[in-house]
Parts: sequence; C-alpha cells; structure tokens
Amino acid sequence: MLAPQAGKEYPCNWNEFLDWFATEEACVAYLERLRWAAGFVCPRCGNAAEAYRASRTRLMCRACQHQCTVTAGTLFEKTRTPLRVWLAAAWYLTNQKQGVSALGLQRVLGLGSYQTAWTMLHRFRRAMVRPDRERLKGQVEVDETYLALTDRQEPLSAVGRKSSTAKVLVVIAVETLQPTGFGRIRLRRIANDSAACVIPFVQEAIEPGAQVRTDGSAAYRSLGELGYDHQRTVMLGSEVPAHASMAGVHRVASLVKRWILGTHHGSVQPEHLDAYLDEFVFRFNRRTSGSRPASTILSGALTRPICYPS
Ligand SMILES: [Zn+2]
Repeated sequence: MLAPQAGKEYPCNWNEFLDWFATEEACVAYLERLRWAAGFVCPRCGNAAEAYRASRTRLMCRACQHQCTVTAGTLFEKTRTPLRVWLAAAWYLTNQKQGVSALGLQRVLGLGSYQTAWTMLHRFRRAMVRPDRERLKGQVEVDETYLALTDRQEPLSAVGRKSSTAKVLVVIAVETLQPTGFGRIRLRRIANDSAACVIPFVQEAIEPGAQVRTDGSAAYRSLGELGYDHQRTVMLGSEVPAHASMAGVHRVASLVKRWILGTHHGSVQPEHLDAYLDEFVFRFNRRTSGSRPASTILSGALTRPICYPS
C-alpha cells in the first residue's frame, strides 16, 4: 500500500483510521512525514538531507550525527502515552462536533487516568492556534460577557468536595458579514472591562482600519486614535435591544456558554480558560470549511514551539 501523504490526507472514517495507524511504527512514520513534509531537516545543525534511521523511532543527521525522534521538541515530547492513543484522541476530539471532555475521552479511549486525558486535550488546544494567524478585518463587533465556571473536578461523583462557582469576564470579537452572517471570531479572558484590558485585545485581534462596533463603554474610547473606524452604539435608553444591535457578539456569547456548560459541564478552571477558548475559536472559525482539522492540529502539535504547563 502506498503511504498516505501526511498533512494532506487523513483517514476518512474509523475503519481507515485503524488501517493507517495499526502500529506504533505506522504512527511514527505518519508524524515524520507530517513534520518533515519537505524532507528531514536536522533540528540541531539545520542540515537538510535524508537522515539515517538509527532505531525504530530515532533518526540520525548525516552531517552532525545528532539523533532525534519525531516527537522531540514537540507537544508530544516525553509522553508515556503511545502515539496511537494520541492519534486516536485527535481523531475523537475533531470528529465530535462539540468536542469532548476529559472524562469523555478517558472513557472512550479506556485511559487509566483522568489526568492523562486532560493533559492530552490541553496540549492539543495549544496546537490549535497558529501564531501567524491573520487578524480580524472588515466590520467587527466587540463586547464583553461573563462566563460561569465551577472548580468542581469533572467526575461528578467527587463526594464531600465543596465546589464554588466563579464568574469570569471574557471579551469577544466577531466579524460581521454583509448582508448577513458571521465570519471569524476571537475570545480572551480579561481581568476587568477597563481600557487596559480591552484595548490590547482589540489591537492583537483586529487589523487597524477595520470598523469596530462597541457599546458606549468609555474603555473603547481610544480606538479612533489607534486607527480603527470606531462606531459606538449607546445602549442606555435605546429602543434597540442589545441582541439586535450586537447580534454577532450575542450569538457567540450564547454558543460559548452552551459549549462550556454542555461539553465541559461548566467545569473549567479559570486559569485554563484561555486554552478552552482557543479550542472554541478553532471550531467556530472552521465550522464551514471542509478541511480535516485533525491533521491541522497534529501538524500544529509537531511544529509549534513548545510552551505548555506540565
Ligand atoms: Zn545535524
């Protein structure tokens, strides 16, 4: 059988998945092709030439004799979980329309611990954001909303533990399309609704020159000076209800709330919320594309600089 082209091709269904990734060797080979799609490049000396295979998983640079594995320096580094399980997790994560909770993943893959499942999902979330992604443009609505999170561990049977609920403020940016519809989104947890929190978000999320619609909050007052076409809608006493004048933000806020409560049972620690928001944005922004997000995530996991909490 001719090897599938990693990155461009990905199993279409679960039977194909089982065929393609039948062994740990097949998974290593797939990830090697994904990571070095244009040919092996030594991570130490930069020499681009086909490597020697030093062992089942180790490759050796012909120039400097440096040995490495496909997972070294990636999100898969030092994992004790078989790559086959990682690939199955990526499959499940991306084939469930609403994603999966750590408890759900633990059950479906038969993982020994909740923590293993949680860590896998968390690392994949880190792989979902492209550092060079384009900022939003055109017409963009921006507003804040509160999310209710609980510190309860997900297995609901945890007896005798008190859980507390935290309200966390999130700022939302949504591209609105003409005549109707929404484009891409960005979300971020913020400490409060001051200019010091919302302005850096707008600058990182939205291209200057875009038309930015906000409510009357003074926090956004400097957007005009910063190169945005700032449209303020003062809600106070307005005849138009908020969900009509900021339809995009309102819609995304209700979807993200439903996702946190539904898929994740509201159980997200506030300090990890940004990673969950990254996953929501990833799903939302690909909702209409026919691409195979699992290979996008895997390739992200292999090529993005690692910077993850243990
Ligand atoms: Zn080398």
